[in-house]
Amino acid sequence: MSVNHIIEVQNLNFSYNNLPVLDNLTFSVEKGDYVGIIGPNGGGKTTLLKILVGLLKPQSGTIKIFGTDFQKLKNRSEIGYVPQRIAQESVEFPATVYEIVESGLITKKGLVGNISSADKEKINQALKMANIINLKDRLMSSLSGGQRQRVYVTRALVNDPKILILDEPFTGVDIISQKDFYSFLKNLNIREHLTILFVSHDIDTITEEIKTVLCLNRGMFCFGSKDIIHKENTIEELYGKNITHIHHSK
Ligand code: ADP
Repeated sequence: MSVNHIIEVQNLNFSYNNLPVLDNLTFSVEKGDYVGIIGPNGGGKTTLLKILVGLLKPQSGTIKIFGTDFQKLKNRSEIGYVPQRIAQESVEFPATVYEIVESGLITKKGLVGNISSADKEKINQALKMANIINLKDRLMSSLSGGQRQRVYVTRALVNDPKILILDEPFTGVDIISQKDFYSFLKNLNIREHLTILFVSHDIDTITEEIKTVLCLNRGMFCFGSKDIIHKENTIEELYGKNITHIHHSK
C-alpha cells in the first residue's frame, strides 16, 4: 500500500438479497483528502458508507483502513460516522448537548458510565473544536437543525477519529448554517488533518469545497479529482439526460 492511502477498496461488490448495488468498486483515498460522494437516490451511496464503517459486510472484495484489513481493525473508533437524517430525528428524552456528545465516547472499558477526567477533557475538547461549548447544557430539543447536526458531528469527533464519514449532513440545515457547516468541515480537514468523506446532493457547492469526487450510480462509478464533474458527460451519465443542473448565485 502507498503510505498515504488511508482507505483502500478493491473489487468491492454488494447486493441486497439479489439486488446488486455496488459493482466491482476499486478506489483509494489519501490521508487528508476531502471526498464528496454524489449520485442519484438509490445509487448506493449510503450502502457504501455503511460498508466503510462496518455496518454492512460486502459479498466480495477487500477493504483496508490504515493499511489493515477491515475485519482485523482493532480501533474502529478511529472512523467517525454521522448517519443520514440523524439531526432530523426527534429526541424524545430530555438529553443535553453534553450528554449526546458523551454518548459517542468509547471508553477503554467500553462502558459509558465510567467516565474518567481524561474522558471529560476529551468531551470538552470536542465541544470547543466544534465551537458549541456554549450550548453544552442546552436540551437537544431546543436546538435548530444546523446546531443539532453540529452536535452529532461533535459526538463523532469525541474519540479523536482520523476519518470522518457523513451521510447527507446538510439535510434540514438552512443555507446560512450550511455555509458555517462547510467552513467547520474545511477547518477539520485542514487544521485537524481529518480525512473527510461525505454524501451531498449540492453538486455546485461541493465542487468548491472538496478535493476529490466519487460518483456512484449502480453500474456507474467514477473517482478522481473534482474536475471530472465538469468533464464531458459525467453529470448526465450519472443522473440521466434530463437533469436540470441548478447553479447557485453567490
Ligand atoms: P443512496 O444512498 O444512493 O440513495 P442506498 O445505498 O440507500 O442509495 O440504496 C441503494 C439501493 O439499495 C436502493 O435501490 C435501495 O432501495 C436498496 N436498499 C437500501 N437498503 C436496503 C435494504 N436494507 N434492503 C434492501 N434493499 C435496500
